[in-house]
Amino acid sequence: MSATELHLTTPDGGHLLPRDELNRRNIEFESATPGEIIAWAADRFGDRLVVTSSFADAVLAHLAWSAVPGIEVVLIDTTYLFAETLWFADHAADLFDGRVRVIEPAADVAPDNQWLEDTPGCCARRKVEPLNRALVGNAAWVTGLRRDDSLSRATAPILANDLMRGIVKVNPMANWTDADVDAYTIEHCLPVHPMTGRGYTSIGCWPCTIPPRNDDDARSGRWAGQNRTECGLHD
Ligand code: SF4
Repeated sequence: MSATELHLTTPDGGHLLPRDELNRRNIEFESATPGEIIAWAADRFGDRLVVTSSFADAVLAHLAWSAVPGIEVVLIDTTYLFAETLWFADHAADLFDGRVRVIEPAADVAPDNQWLEDTPGCCARRKVEPLNRALVGNAAWVTGLRRDDSLSRATAPILANDLMRGIVKVNPMANWTDADVDAYTIEHCLPVHPMTGRGYTSIGCWPCTIPPRNDDDARSGRWAGQNRTECGLHD
């Protein structure tokens, strides 16, 4: 039976995994490496697999390029990314002969200053809309989400059916700790984002990112002072 036949197709053309396969794979993948999980996803979903990275580090991109040579890694440029992040994505791609595709908000995106008054609306237009556009027509989405990132991600599964988008979400690094990321970075001599050395532990857009306010929460420098820790990509 082909991978396509094994998908459940939603009424609007989306693709989900049958519940029994989802549960079985989630148990199995707790002891698999992220590279093995990405390789499985490439085999399972073929060229309808999208990998996204914020390029706050090069780990997910390196894992994807190693597991699936030639695969493209998507970076969502809200147009508010730090110049260092755009440089870093290019630099990592050059070093590892990888492919990066930068996507941007729609041309009629909201006013430049929306983040001053309405950060959820700004994220919806500048992050979520471009992502959703990139996922249309695809079957699965690989992210760098980790349980260690924050309390709100502490129970993230490795595989999930993203019912809202009608797509399978693959979090191959879900059970990796910060120590695992550091060890992989050292083992593979990966470059480090230039702002990491300046104390930034989670790096998004310049208006909404400062070094962490709480040493125990890497994402506490995102939307600091607001009651938010997520941008909507992982809701
Ligand atoms: S993180 Fe801030 S600047 Fe970036 S899209 Fe969200 S609200 Fe806008």
